[in-house]
Amino acid sequence: MTKIAHRAISVLLIALLIVAGLTVYVMRWLDRGREWAGAFSTVNSMSTGSLTDRDGRLLASYDSAGVHYNSDYETRLACYHITGDFWNRSGTGALSTFWNTLQGYSWVTGTARGRTADLALTVDSELCKLAYESLGGRKGAVLLSNYKTGEILALVSTPAVDPADADAVPQEGAYINRCLSATFTPGSVFKLLTAAAAIESVPGMDTRSFLCEGKYVIAGVEIKCTGTHYEQNFEEALANSCNSAFAQIAVKVGQNSMAEHARAYGFLDTHSLDGIPTAAGRYPTEFVGDPELAWSGIGQSTDLVNPYQMLRFVSAIANNGFLVEPHLLETRVDGSGTQLMLASTAQRLASMMSYNVFSHYGRQNFPALNIAAKTGTAELGDGTTHAWFVGFLADESHPYAFVVLVERGGGGLVNAGPIANTILQAAVRDA
Ligand SMILES: [Zn+2]
Repeated sequence: MTKIAHRAISVLLIALLIVAGLTVYVMRWLDRGREWAGAFSTVNSMSTGSLTDRDGRLLASYDSAGVHYNSDYETRLACYHITGDFWNRSGTGALSTFWNTLQGYSWVTGTARGRTADLALTVDSELCKLAYESLGGRKGAVLLSNYKTGEILALVSTPAVDPADADAVPQEGAYINRCLSATFTPGSVFKLLTAAAAIESVPGMDTRSFLCEGKYVIAGVEIKCTGTHYEQNFEEALANSCNSAFAQIAVKVGQNSMAEHARAYGFLDTHSLDGIPTAAGRYPTEFVGDPELAWSGIGQSTDLVNPYQMLRFVSAIANNGFLVEPHLLETRVDGSGTQLMLASTAQRLASMMSYNVFSHYGRQNFPALNIAAKTGTAELGDGTTHAWFVGFLADESHPYAFVVLVERGGGGLVNAGPIANTILQAAVRDA
């Protein structure tokens, strides 16, 4: 009996070892299978692949001799968060996301098929480089897209990494894609959402007036304004970016409706940019009371916005409320999307954003551009502010939407505005 019992235990142990070994193998295969296949294909099967921008400029490629990137240092940095690298360090780059397509890797057969795969992206690497230079070493995010086709023309996040330098010690946070993977306090650019919610849920917004005496006191809590704007209508309130007015407007809209609109406009959810997941934003959905609701309506409180969400939002405003879902792959230009808001809401907001520039931001700061925009200077509680400038060109031939964020960059108009102007001028000139 003892002998049989010992044998049974031995067999059981062997079986367990086999199961454990198989489990480890399968898990590693799922995790690293494409790397194994990649190593095989680049070394043995002579597969080649390339990633290019919209004009055929090289972003990255690989062949039997190894991996290659664009020869220009600044272009490599500017495009890092689009391209990624062959080590999958950034997580959001095209090399990681579209690796299976580039490689021909299959989960079933494992190895690549030994073919040439060339993938063209919608981005313009020259515009990316310009945006990178305009950020001038500051941390930030720049997004530019065509709101009629959904093509992303520029997607730049700084600081960045040189993918060609495998031993580089990057700046802290350089692997974070600030356009897609991070969220920021929105400040006054969030007033666009509050305005849209008000247009859709508060009757007669255009006949109402809002008093600003330099502050607004609600339930004993004082909300300071950046100026004293006295009696003003809805349009003036947005152009003044009046905190007193928008605190009142958010309370009129009500927290439930504010949260519903934030969700409907895509600010609470993650999105997929051709398979690259983007960060979800935040708006208070648990009951907070009027003072906090007022703060949330002016983009403070616990509000957090991801720059890509803001790009979707302003793209819809520019395009009569219809959002053509943005994308990075040239092959995905199909114009599909969703009606994010009523066409009448979008048209009203668009006209208010044009008025912002005309009456307050200075048309001379954006020569020859028919620009509609909103500034944001988001307070962070430590005395610093994020500089935002978001909007679009009301121009059939140049239908561009943009989001510029300079992290802890000071005032929105002065610091983010010129970056928007620089890349829009170049995009219009080169179109
Ligand atoms: Zn005011």
